[in-house]
Amino acid sequence: MPRRPRGEEALRLLRRYVPRLRWCPSCGLPVLGSDRCPRCGGPTLEVRLAPPGDARPAWEEEKRETWRRAVEELGREAAGRLLGGPEAFWLFNPVQAVDAADEIIVDGHTVATRLYNPLSAAWRLRPDRVGVEILCGEELGPYAVAEERLRPGAVVRPRRWGSGASREPGSYVALCGGGLSYGVGRVLERGDVRVLKAWYRRRRVEWRHRPRSWSVGEVAEANRDWLLSREREAVTWLRGVMESHGDTLFLAGLSGGKDSTVSATIAAEAGVEEAYSVDTGVEHPESLETVEKAAERLGLRLHRAEAGDAFWRGLEAYGPPARDYRWCTRLLKLAPLARLFKTLAKGRRIVMVTGQRGAESPQRAASPRLAESGTLGRGRHLVAAPIQEWSSLEVYLYIVLRGLPLNPLYRLGFERIGCYMCPASHLAEFRIVAERRPGLWARWENWLRRYARRAGLPREWVTYGLWRWRLSYPAEVLALIRRLGLRPAELLERAAAAQLHAAREYSRSGEALVLSPAAARPAPGTPREWLHAAAIDAEGDGDAAEARLAGWVLRVDKGRARVELEQRGTPPSPVELRAALAAASASLVCLRCGLCAEACPTGAFREPGAIDVGKCIRCRACVWACPSSVLADLAIGLLKPSERERPRRGRALGGRRR
Ligand code: SF4
Ligand code: SF4
Ligand SMILES: [Zn+2]
Repeated sequence: MPRRPRGEEALRLLRRYVPRLRWCPSCGLPVLGSDRCPRCGGPTLEVRLAPPGDARPAWEEEKRETWRRAVEELGREAAGRLLGGPEAFWLFNPVQAVDAADEIIVDGHTVATRLYNPLSAAWRLRPDRVGVEILCGEELGPYAVAEERLRPGAVVRPRRWGSGASREPGSYVALCGGGLSYGVGRVLERGDVRVLKAWYRRRRVEWRHRPRSWSVGEVAEANRDWLLSREREAVTWLRGVMESHGDTLFLAGLSGGKDSTVSATIAAEAGVEEAYSVDTGVEHPESLETVEKAAERLGLRLHRAEAGDAFWRGLEAYGPPARDYRWCTRLLKLAPLARLFKTLAKGRRIVMVTGQRGAESPQRAASPRLAESGTLGRGRHLVAAPIQEWSSLEVYLYIVLRGLPLNPLYRLGFERIGCYMCPASHLAEFRIVAERRPGLWARWENWLRRYARRAGLPREWVTYGLWRWRLSYPAEVLALIRRLGLRPAELLERAAAAQLHAAREYSRSGEALVLSPAAARPAPGTPREWLHAAAIDAEGDGDAAEARLAGWVLRVDKGRARVELEQRGTPPSPVELRAALAAASASLVCLRCGLCAEACPTGAFREPGAIDVGKCIRCRACVWACPSSVLADLAIGLLKPSERERPRRGRALGGRRR
């Protein structure tokens, strides 16, 4: 299983990828990788970005909408002072929030943050950092003056309000506090303000802030030397990889996203002649078009892998995919790709040249530039990431400089592009899909509404995209759910119970939790084979198997499509429990995708889903590769509440309403 770095380690990894972005104060130009301005030769200043600092240019369409909101919320004069106007050059730096949110960087300074509010389905503008200091220093727009030193989380009562400040609860206000402290606040009832962020300065600064109207093309042109040096480095590296891998097929991946367009360009420059793309069956039409255009433009022979209706079949087996419940990547991308590669490889190793970048996620930051594919080609195929070190800004500027096709969705505000219902999307992005492709969106939303009704889930689960998490909610989303008057644990439990019926059963041997998948489709192999592969010794033959997991007993019954778990005595280790439940899930729900056989390093599969235990080295690769292993995580989630509040005998957990 790929490692998922977390916490401090994740932050440390991402910090490595914060781009060296500078700014020329004379020209107002973003400068990549140099202390000197490529235009005037003058010194440049550092632009401070929060990790991973994957800032991108704001496009005209996005700027127009944001500008409208800025004028409404800050007032025209303050909006003009901070942002210049929709013609000025802005960067958006994505930050963590309940939905889409970007710091707005203008003239090298973070002046405001735009936040998409799921409740009002609209963007909001909040002055930030240098923007706050300008509003306070120049007594402009929504500002207020407080006596005390500002501290994050404190509630203050301003002694003076600027004429542009709204005292409406929920409004944002720039705060000037005692001792040269500054902050951003949110107005509460009765004129109090909660301090959201605060900082100090040793002296007052007069900001000579001048937003300039550079087009993205002009910025790309000014940074041409740097961008071409990045290109040269990436091409040289990839050529080196090609030279050191003899009988190997190099294929450039194209997805319709910006990163793969750039990595495929590097690949073509390095001498790669063929490309692949995967149509998951739920692609944005714009992505399919961009793939075609890019392949044509780069002269790459395109091979297409197609998932057909696998998404809709997967939905029946697993329910909606979620950020922490991703069966979709395996079923919709890896499985069709495995089939395609089988026909192309002809015994050779394949190197996939992809647009992976370290700044995208801690997992990608931890991944080397050339790595073995975890699943494809029994781990023999490799993944090459020539643009691993590139920032988002470099990718966009390179695309503009080279005149490469860019998916039009980016210009409308998409931060990243996956499938049209990708659970990693923001609600702000779903809104764009719903407006542009009402038919496509209605099919998905209607499916979700039917599912929610069957599972006894409230309308809000669909409206606010709460289906995008299945195991736990992040803090910001928890706050939203509570504001909606809903109980997060109940939502997760009901969604899980819709896929995995759970009940307590009592017998002479004691009490057991019984789990049955809503859509069972047994694998051709036996449960015992699968437990063997998960490195768990089991007894039994044919349809049934029984194993001891420390003090607990696990029974898998293929005929009755159920798993029994007797939780007595010492519990197994979490890894052992998860592996056992994943193996049980694979044996009960098999969509014949073939990924298990694809992942097996010893060729132990007689056919997809059926293992020859004589050849098995019990490495668990097949168990983790199987999309059904996600059901193990749901099962583990269902085990916890059963320990806290014991349900009545035989009743399904989660109180499903039909
Ligand atoms: S050797 Fe093959 S069958 Fe055995 S656990 Fe590993 S991947 Fe599965
Ligand atoms: S058991 Fe193998 S073929 Fe069946 S769903 Fe899992 S990975 Fe796919
Ligand atoms: Zn300059």
